[in-house]
Amino acid sequence: MFARRRAMLFADDLRAKLLLVHERLCAQYKCPIAYFGSLDPLSELVSSLLSHRTKNADSSRAFRTLRERFPSWESVRDAPTEEIQSAIAAATWPEQKAPRLQAVLRAIEAKRGALSLDFLAELTVVEARAWLEELPGVGPKTSAAVLAFSTLRRAALPVDSHHHRVAQRLALIPKSLAVGPSHAVLEAQLPGDWNAQQVYDNHEILLLHGQNICFFNNPACARCVVLDLCPFGQARRLKSQP
Ligand code: SF4
Repeated sequence: MFARRRAMLFADDLRAKLLLVHERLCAQYKCPIAYFGSLDPLSELVSSLLSHRTKNADSSRAFRTLRERFPSWESVRDAPTEEIQSAIAAATWPEQKAPRLQAVLRAIEAKRGALSLDFLAELTVVEARAWLEELPGVGPKTSAAVLAFSTLRRAALPVDSHHHRVAQRLALIPKSLAVGPSHAVLEAQLPGDWNAQQVYDNHEILLLHGQNICFFNNPACARCVVLDLCPFGQARRLKSQP
């Protein structure tokens, strides 16, 4: 009983901290943040699969070339795999991504009888994520990206490597928690009544902070608006004092 109560208090503390971080970073990066894209959900899924461990510019180029060379997702599904591989050559590991992409398209067709994910709008976020995560190679980051970034505009939280690093340093999640399982932990810290824009903002501000201040190497803690909330930044500051 005591342990459960302690765990609940700890969860409340983390949520309070997350809200404070959200408020300050929102002020810094000027929420609400404009959505960067408006792809339909199936296109967003393809784009997300291509973007795995690939720079944004390169995965955009791979997606554009794929769309230019193949007029429909049916033609991508049915093309010789080497042709897909060549079209997405700008992305990392095209030799793995091309057969995976075709397997995903075939799985969607088999499950739904059509190549469209528009039906996800009728499911709850939890149901839609579970449906997507049954597809080959689709994990929590991709399922959340499809729901949050596509025209579905749902309240789902993707966690990329910047977001994950900042959350670890702020001790919102344990140091040992990998990106995949961190999705459920970070999402549970968000207030249940937040709308899609607020959840999207939370993802974007933590990502922007990782890109602009909380660098992988040598984070700019002296310029950080959440330094007082950050054990990692505080420890660095103490170390650098004479
Ligand atoms: S204080 Fe430093 S380590 Fe902590 S979030 Fe800010 S930049 Fe990152």
